[in-house]
Amino acid sequence: MTSFSDLGLRAELLKALEGEGYTHPTPIQLQAIPFVLEGRDVQGIAQTGTGKTAAFALPILQRLAENRRQPPRGGCRVLVLSPTRELASQIADSFRTYGKYMGLRVTVMFGGVPKPRQAKAMSGGVDVLVATPGRLMDHMADRAVRLDHVETLVLDEADHMLDLGFIVPIRRIIATLPAKRQTMLFSATMPPEIATLAAGMLKDPAHVAVTPVATTAERVEQAVVFVDAPRKRHALLELLVDHTTGRTLVFTRTKHGADRVVKQLGESGVAAAAIHGNKSQGQRERALADFRAGACRVLVATDIAARGIDVDGVTHVINFDLPNVPESYVHRIGRTARAGKDGMAISLCAPDERAFLRGIEKLTRSKVPVMTLGGAPTRQAA
Ligand code: AMP
Repeated sequence: MTSFSDLGLRAELLKALEGEGYTHPTPIQLQAIPFVLEGRDVQGIAQTGTGKTAAFALPILQRLAENRRQPPRGGCRVLVLSPTRELASQIADSFRTYGKYMGLRVTVMFGGVPKPRQAKAMSGGVDVLVATPGRLMDHMADRAVRLDHVETLVLDEADHMLDLGFIVPIRRIIATLPAKRQTMLFSATMPPEIATLAAGMLKDPAHVAVTPVATTAERVEQAVVFVDAPRKRHALLELLVDHTTGRTLVFTRTKHGADRVVKQLGESGVAAAAIHGNKSQGQRERALADFRAGACRVLVATDIAARGIDVDGVTHVINFDLPNVPESYVHRIGRTARAGKDGMAISLCAPDERAFLRGIEKLTRSKVPVMTLGGAPTRQAA
């Protein structure tokens, strides 16, 4: 397994990484760090959570330290553009953390706070400036910031920049940078506008990508059914009985919930088995074997129990409960539509789960189509 020192990172960085408890580089770091160290432009498809900040921050810090230089007053050597103040702060913190044994100057600027302190921080020049585009433009207009000595530019979460209407400001900012520089663009998705922007700003870029968890979602047909919690059992039954569901994986948030769903389905004549942490190894194996063999068409699982399941031909995933962690949704629905097959994911969403749905839609950057069931809302409790 490749380590951070195998990547050629300096002792100061290795010491900081050890302090953070990072033992091994993540896939995006393994891919990107060598290119950035070489000075190449990089186009990266990676979303937050993949370790992408360190993927650019570590090699950038290394290059700064290898070639120390006094930035001009009001200037910076590295400019990182971020769509939001939260992300900007996180990125600046990462640079500070990884670079803490290097004595480099890092500063951050974003809107919503007074400008003078930010301008003062820039007055002596800094090594790394992390900024949101709007506030950076303000400081440029005030002549508090100059970008004519930027050696490296990073555009992070480019697709999010697009959503927020930052493309024009970004083009203006880039126009003031030296043409000879190293440029990196990271984005979770690559819509045409971003591809065009990338083509215009990157020179012979190295392409790096980690399968963003959200893209698996694009291959799966999705639907959400809005239903009150007490009516979920009927909605589930209707989906299993009336719709052309084949091999179906049903997810619940809790083990207890999984058992309850299996019991209720059994009472309605649908054979189902549950797998979760409270089941013995033997019970789990039997449930999985029955599911694989088709003896039992419905498997009910919790997120953790489902992690180890690898069953082909799952036609439907039904979220009896929506997960409170949006990434879990993507992992759940990725259980269907495997190996290029079609799959469908249907979520039952109670009023108190709407916030979870919004989180999921934000992560996958898509709206889940609403589906209405015929009988469920009016059917009487069995
Ligand atoms: P990011 O995708 O940059 O937002 O990083 C996601 C999280 O992973 C952050 O909390 C980092 O501190 C952490 N992280 C980044 N690289 C590593 C690594 N190699 N090992 C463990 N954690 C990491």
